[in-house]
Amino acid sequence: MTAFPEGTILGYPRIGRRRELKKAVEAFWAGRIDEEELERTTRELRASTRERLAELGLGRKDSAIPESFSYYDQVLDAAVTVGAIPTRFEDLRGADGTVGLPAYFTIARGEGDRAPLEMTKWFDSNYHYLVPEIGPETVFSLSSDRLVRQVSEAAEAGLVTRPVIVGPVTLLALAKASDDAPQGFDPLSRLDDLLPVYVELLARLRAEGAEWVQLDEPALVSESLPASVAQLSDAAARALDVLGRAPERPAILVAAPYADLGEVFPVLAAAPIEAIAVDLVRGGVPAPAAGLEGKTLVGGVVDGHNIWRGDLAHAFDRLEALRALGAAVSASTSTSLLHVPHDVTDESRLDERLVSWLAFADQKVQQVGVLARGLSVGRASIAAELDASSAALADRLAAPGVRDGAVRDRALSTADFSRVGYEERETAQEALGLPVLPLTTIGSFPQTGDIRRARARFTRGEIPAEDYDDFLRREVASVVSLQEDLGLDVLVHGEPERNDMVQYFAENLDGFAVTEHGWVQSYGSRATRPSILWGDVSRPAPITVGWSAYAQSLTSKHLKGMLTGPVTILAWSFVRDDQPLGETANQVALALRDEIADLEAAGIAIIQVDEPALRELLPLKKADQPAYLRWSVDSFRLATGGAAAGTQVHTHLCYSEFGVVIDAIRALDADVTSIEAARSRMEVVADIAEVGFDHGIGPGVYDIHSPRVPTVEEVESLLRRAVEEIPTRQLWVNPDCGLKTRGYEETTASLRNIVEATRRVREDV
Ligand code: GLN
Ligand code: ZN
Repeated sequence: MTAFPEGTILGYPRIGRRRELKKAVEAFWAGRIDEEELERTTRELRASTRERLAELGLGRKDSAIPESFSYYDQVLDAAVTVGAIPTRFEDLRGADGTVGLPAYFTIARGEGDRAPLEMTKWFDSNYHYLVPEIGPETVFSLSSDRLVRQVSEAAEAGLVTRPVIVGPVTLLALAKASDDAPQGFDPLSRLDDLLPVYVELLARLRAEGAEWVQLDEPALVSESLPASVAQLSDAAARALDVLGRAPERPAILVAAPYADLGEVFPVLAAAPIEAIAVDLVRGGVPAPAAGLEGKTLVGGVVDGHNIWRGDLAHAFDRLEALRALGAAVSASTSTSLLHVPHDVTDESRLDERLVSWLAFADQKVQQVGVLARGLSVGRASIAAELDASSAALADRLAAPGVRDGAVRDRALSTADFSRVGYEERETAQEALGLPVLPLTTIGSFPQTGDIRRARARFTRGEIPAEDYDDFLRREVASVVSLQEDLGLDVLVHGEPERNDMVQYFAENLDGFAVTEHGWVQSYGSRATRPSILWGDVSRPAPITVGWSAYAQSLTSKHLKGMLTGPVTILAWSFVRDDQPLGETANQVALALRDEIADLEAAGIAIIQVDEPALRELLPLKKADQPAYLRWSVDSFRLATGGAAAGTQVHTHLCYSEFGVVIDAIRALDADVTSIEAARSRMEVVADIAEVGFDHGIGPGVYDIHSPRVPTVEEVESLLRRAVEEIPTRQLWVNPDCGLKTRGYEETTASLRNIVEATRRVREDV
């Protein structure tokens, strides 16, 4: 067995420095390039990634370079590799039983009435994976040799790389029971049937020259999955026992990042594998455990979750602490670098001083290289780099703007976190004169090609600000008049000025920076460009007031002001790590609080503060959840706590698993909460009725994720279902989410049907 390399990374961004993967894959979907061309483009992308990693210091022949490419998603890759595809896609297999690229994309994206796999968040990151569907009928068989071919592709270039695949326990633990499975079926019960396919895969990888393989098993650290940690570690022990004893295999590295390994560590230490990756950013140095002799501990000390350069000296300290456990130690990132952009040196417009505090993927690879050198040659050999990192950190902590006296001096009292009682507000809000079952939308209207083009031209300086402003005003005016024509009750301005619900605020608040190329994969071919929250947050000037006031001036109906909440702003940005998140959230909240006061002063009586990410940031460990829920709810309450009793505060959450965070949602104390419900055919209203919720609630009646126009009868039946379960005085009528990804044709038709359905239901209540 060859030794594990001194330094490595657990994975690298797959999208390409200029989003080459997105462009190629979308061109293939649109039929502009064929499969061969797609293969060629992505082969080049993989080749340049390997070369880049070698240039940055990872060894060419020691398995340091991870083979972590994916066309769409690594969980789908694993599912397809082992043949775990739902029955509805079975006919897409080739004659030899393999699942080719077109079939792979169809499973990811659906086709006609064949629904795609569901998508959900990958642990506590902003990456979304596809949820495998597994039942008693699933036949596991090696159905794709893509990973094997990538290993040989690397070998042809003279490299020995380390294939990475989602491990068997995580694959099953993240899966849901297939449609064909009986009630209560647990995919994890198929573990023993699945393992032989992994054994076969390991043999193929070994035959192709792989000396190490990485099995990603992050499910082992999650307390948010249906399986308990005890069940998961039990499954891991069984799985690794089988895989470890496989006759022909590469050496095995098991990586279970995103949280502390806790009681799983001794299980991994005892397993017949060769290396264990430990997330030392989210977790601590484990206690000594039996079975570590001869193993390698891969210390994840370079943070894969964020873009800070961090404290390299402290990182090295932790590697030394890890060494005390008696195993060999290597340096690594805490997670795959999938969660960070490619290269900070691409950012020509960022402030230089800010850049000196940052490390994107490429810089993190270099940091690993430094730490690896320190491990092999000794701390003294990297003293200069450690000092430089400490100096950058000290510079950051002392820099103007990172700590802003005016922000920090704003004293908070407990009263700032509460409004008057709901009953009193309800009475005060009667003055709004809203009808029963008020009709509204979630905020955005279609972001048409015209809007995107105008924004791009304005950003490039091709049209003057006044012209762009005029264009947006015309857009707002047309959105307002459309809503009046349709007969909605509470109007919105449509958000045409926003590129993105977080970046827009980041661009208008102090303490944030936005990048030019800082794309991070969100799912499939989609990437987002998170802003960097680096300093104390404050609001130099009102942000949304001009737009809302203008829209309000065009109508006698109520115009709903539209803000993004503090938790969502944090969740979708790279956030400073030098103070508790709750403190940062409160700074954002105070800026929003001022914005709300200004909106009120401008005559806006209904204000929505979106918090679609509230659920997303929920920590994986149960013990961490109460503290999170406390600060997140508090920040929302601080943002909205200054609103007058007569001001109606709305919030919007993008999901329907209401039950999980019901206490938090209740504690937000918004007057009206809109949620997704159409996709689950209003199942959520039964949950709501069951747990009891007495504020306003708008369960979505229109699934905006699909271009389909719901009929009047469909919407009517959804509404009648809601009316049966929930007192009418609480109910609102709205779509599931914003309309920005939809076109005008289906939006108008859908809203018209919603209005008609509401009219019919109103007659009977
Ligand atoms: N107000 C936002 C919109 O309508 C909300 C989007 C969201 O919840 N993600 O686009
Ligand atoms: Zn939403």
